[in-house]
Amino acid sequence: MKETGCVLLKSGALTAEDLEKINRYTRRAFQEEELYTFSVVLCDNEVDRDMERFTIPALERLGELFLGKTGIFDHAPQAQNQAARIYDCRVECLPERVTRAGEAYHRLVARAYLPRCPKNEEFILELESGIKKEVSVGCSVAEATCSICGADRRKGECGHVKGRCYDGILCCTILDHPTDAYEWSFVAIPAQREAGVIKSFTEKGERTMEEVWKSLSGEGDLVLHAEERQQLAKEVAILREQAACGRQYREALEKSVVRLCGIVSPEVPHEAMERAAQAMQLDDLQAFEKAFRKRAEQALPLTPQLAPAEQRASTENREFQI
Ligand SMILES: [Zn+2]
Repeated sequence: MKETGCVLLKSGALTAEDLEKINRYTRRAFQEEELYTFSVVLCDNEVDRDMERFTIPALERLGELFLGKTGIFDHAPQAQNQAARIYDCRVECLPERVTRAGEAYHRLVARAYLPRCPKNEEFILELESGIKKEVSVGCSVAEATCSICGADRRKGECGHVKGRCYDGILCCTILDHPTDAYEWSFVAIPAQREAGVIKSFTEKGERTMEEVWKSLSGEGDLVLHAEERQQLAKEVAILREQAACGRQYREALEKSVVRLCGIVSPEVPHEAMERAAQAMQLDDLQAFEKAFRKRAEQALPLTPQLAPAEQRASTENREFQI
């Protein structure tokens, strides 16, 4: 998880288009006077304090992913904390400003709304007075590469040091192909002045396989990275092999229980015991097998004792042999 900060812009007048977009998210049609709207910069393509930056296409994609997402006061996603919803996103270019990576500065600006009601009064006041100035966003990206050599940063070090310049090019990590946008929220106390942005990522390779397995039973679309998919396929193959071994063991156990039952309780029909064994849980099967075996051994020794006894005798008497 990592974070990046953003700045709140002044609120603006509503257009008919704004209203139309907002009313896509509301249960009934809202009028302009019932709504409070404002703009936030969610993120940009500047190199941040962690020496990471988004590509411009990544900003575009994040704009799609953040549509309809609800912003909260802090990082606690309870309903009572939900404050505003994003209804429009666009990537703005400020050509006069150049990033540390030498690109024209681009930023993702979102428009958000909240209903004007007593509950929101204080929040609106805080927005207008500039108290709620910082915004943090949480998202995941599929790609994090070295800006110098293009190596996958999550597969280990490529030797290039972040923050250092190589032939005039700043080494940083390029974040691309966002896969999900989780949240955006207002931070009461800015984590950092200026840079402000607070990012929150689950990068490729950061997930443990345990988490990948868990996500299989979750809701919605599942995005698996190539490595995760390969690892998952490998684990499934191992599990299948183990399952086959388990089945073989169970079948042998069932057969043994049926056979022993035939010895200790011949009045029980073979088919009946067979059906019962098939329906038993493994630990029950083991218990029956043990009990039947014990009784069967008493009734008639199953392990031939004659041969070993003879052998034993011959070994014991070896010293007396000539
Ligand atoms: Zn590199």
